[in-house]
Amino acid sequence: MKFCSECGSEVTKGIPEGDNRERHICTHCGIVHYQNPKMVTGTIPVWEDKVLLCRRAIEPRRGLWTLPAGFMENNESTQEGALRETLEEANARVCIEQLYTTFNLPLISQVYLLFRARLQSLDFHPGSESLEVALFREDEVPWEELAFPVVRETLKLFFTDRQSGQYVHRVGDIYWESRRSGEYQVTMLQEGC
Ligand SMILES: [Zn+2]
Repeated sequence: MKFCSECGSEVTKGIPEGDNRERHICTHCGIVHYQNPKMVTGTIPVWEDKVLLCRRAIEPRRGLWTLPAGFMENNESTQEGALRETLEEANARVCIEQLYTTFNLPLISQVYLLFRARLQSLDFHPGSESLEVALFREDEVPWEELAFPVVRETLKLFFTDRQSGQYVHRVGDIYWESRRSGEYQVTMLQEGC
């Protein structure tokens, strides 16, 4: 941020009185511009033993496969956002069944909320942000061509839980050394203290 969205003057970085972190502060009107994590919401659309994935038509990770998900808009709920993204990216209608995974990505200040959802029909096709939309059984999932760690981890959990039919909501944190290497670390929240 370079300029104040309230008055257009330059902003400077500093720690406001009573605060403990650096913020953008306007040099003219003094307003503090707080920046907080972004929420990404989406679905795991399920049809029989298959999951719907979208091949990305946009950067980052163009050409790789992902679950339908995206940044929440103002004035919508997480569920509404998940349904909207599923419709926009795959023209697919789903019925939400459960909040399935919550993944924290502290390094990029994002939180993913992915809902397990039942696909209502096989009437779906790519939206403008997708090159292709398709259903995959576990052994058909393009595991080496998934766009994001959060997608891979969620699909792994889903197909493991599918064997028992007991789907448990999980919370995990994902970190990486360098995003280019593709290597990352996952820490799942253990129940109990
Ligand atoms: Zn200002």
